[in-house]
Amino acid sequence: MKKKPTPLFVRNVIPWYLREGRDLPWRATRDPYAIWLSEIILQQTRVQQGLGYFLKFLETFPNVSSLAHASEDQVFRLWQGLGYYSRAKNLHKAAKIICDQWNGEFPKTFDELKSLPGVGDYTAAAIASFAFEFPKASIDGNVLRWTSRFLGSHAPIDDPKTKKTIQLLLDDWIQDASAHSFNQASMELGAIICTPKDPQCHHCPLSEECVAFQNSLTNELPIKAKKTKVKHQLVTALFIQDNQGNWAVSKRQDNEIWGGLYALPLLFTDDTSVDIALENLLQQFDLNAKDIVIKHTWTTSHLLTHRKLQVHIFSILLEDMPRNTYKFEKWIGVEAMKNLGFPKVFSDFYKHKGLL
Ligand code: SF4
Repeated sequence: MKKKPTPLFVRNVIPWYLREGRDLPWRATRDPYAIWLSEIILQQTRVQQGLGYFLKFLETFPNVSSLAHASEDQVFRLWQGLGYYSRAKNLHKAAKIICDQWNGEFPKTFDELKSLPGVGDYTAAAIASFAFEFPKASIDGNVLRWTSRFLGSHAPIDDPKTKKTIQLLLDDWIQDASAHSFNQASMELGAIICTPKDPQCHHCPLSEECVAFQNSLTNELPIKAKKTKVKHQLVTALFIQDNQGNWAVSKRQDNEIWGGLYALPLLFTDDTSVDIALENLLQQFDLNAKDIVIKHTWTTSHLLTHRKLQVHIFSILLEDMPRNTYKFEKWIGVEAMKNLGFPKVFSDFYKHKGLL
């Protein structure tokens, strides 16, 4: 029987990656815990930003058991600034599951890994291949982009059928290589050569057979069917201090934006003026504008997935009233703040106030 030819990707991209790939700490280990940490941190985070967090997490929680035994507040505190806090929540939950149900041993197959919270197809394939050489291709936006261009495909990359087709193709190619090197090379190609803008086609190890390059289609591909709509929202928040310099905060509910983190008393609104939002927020906490001095202290804008937030923070000093008059969940000072996790927008505010 005639032997199937080795795919160009395996012949050219893997040697390129082994020669020129970036030296990153999670690439030098086969420890599934460290690999899992890096993969969760790098979801929606750039390598340069994620690197410091990865090292900090490994230093604070050197194994899955230490992470499982930490408090949620400790984990959120360490995660502060990375955004997408559901990742931190799932990381903590998954560590507990690994300790309770898997005796502290990481599951080894794609399907077992996928059963952990926060681990989808991409992350399960990454951990299984990097730690255990399990032959499953990891497919993320970077990989969809280079494959779509290489094949000259006009199928929308946000259509699950397209992803399935590419998964089948790459799962076939990966059989001819080390699964670790294959997935690392595939991600690296998408991250540093086949970039969204100005791909480096003249340095690309796939250029000789790349349909997009050969036909000048790199600006057109890949195609996306849906345009993501960004919602604009107003966030009005109160920095309420008592006469000892402590201020009121509350823990966000799991089903709310920033669930599990601490925040100043706040209100999210659509299509409202700042004045009306402030009035509603004061009412919510039984504060009467006539009795207090309110100062507009800080404004910033903040981006979340599919949301653009315009944030306004007002300061109130409750000098003469005992703080238990008001129904705020918690009063904290500078020391307590250091042990709690806050959304980036509030830690930026604390920095602005010289508290952090
Ligand atoms: S040749 Fe250009 S378009 Fe084709 S895969 Fe390489 S970088 Fe991407």
